[in-house]
Amino acid sequence: MKFIDSHCHVQFRAYLDDMDEVVKRSLSEDVFMISIGTQSDTSKSAIELAERYDGVWATIGLHPNHLHKQEFFDTNEQIKTRSETFDSAVYEKMVQHEKVVAIGEFGLDYYRIPDGYEPSVVIQDQINDCIKQLKFASKYNKPVVIHCRDAHEKQFELLKNEIDAGGLTKRGVIHSFTGNVEEATRYAELEFYIGVNGILTFSKELQAVIKEVPLEQLVIETDAPYLTLPPFRGKRNEPRYVKYVAELLAEIKGVTVEEIAEVTAKNTIKLFNLPL
Ligand SMILES: [Zn+2]
Repeated sequence: MKFIDSHCHVQFRAYLDDMDEVVKRSLSEDVFMISIGTQSDTSKSAIELAERYDGVWATIGLHPNHLHKQEFFDTNEQIKTRSETFDSAVYEKMVQHEKVVAIGEFGLDYYRIPDGYEPSVVIQDQINDCIKQLKFASKYNKPVVIHCRDAHEKQFELLKNEIDAGGLTKRGVIHSFTGNVEEATRYAELEFYIGVNGILTFSKELQAVIKEVPLEQLVIETDAPYLTLPPFRGKRNEPRYVKYVAELLAEIKGVTVEEIAEVTAKNTIKLFNLPL
């Protein structure tokens, strides 16, 4: 049985001391992974990590939370972000690398508007940067990894516009999906996958939504180091824990873990065109 963690950040500072051990542990348990870039330096380090291992791939992109200077707490560390706008010249240097399988994560995040900024200005900046990265993905024929919080209406519109214009031929995934059935269905019409993670364990609402989404549209992820699920809640997450997401998904769908592993791995291989 092989699993693929379709979204983690094993190149992050949270793994500074034992990054290679964490990766090797997951690989030895037959868990492959996609390490997701969130700004230019974490995109670069994702590639460097992917270069060292079979079974590890990278993505490059600029997360909406890194567009403006802000501070916020998460379960792992306090992050102080420096602001960055998507500079295609910087990402062009990385996109041709054989281990780069997608552009992202990027998208719209209306939930986390930084203090001291006019919300409408932040939202417009997010939209502009999202459009830039969608066009970049179209130009280089890569799928996209979308981060979207409380903004599905607009996010859908931006994706559809790009597809209608002949772009995004490789489509993509809405990672860490927390929307409703209707929104999942609309993304399915665009041929987008939906990524599920540890949020499933504590949201009955999301469980009910995911029960209705066909398995053929789903991929599994950890979003490590974030979103650790029981029995490891409160600790740093690792890609190998994606098995617990698979177990829960099996329960919700009423199928075996083997079937979840097989179908989600197949979906992830197709999504990122992995050479497997
Ligand atoms: Zn992420």
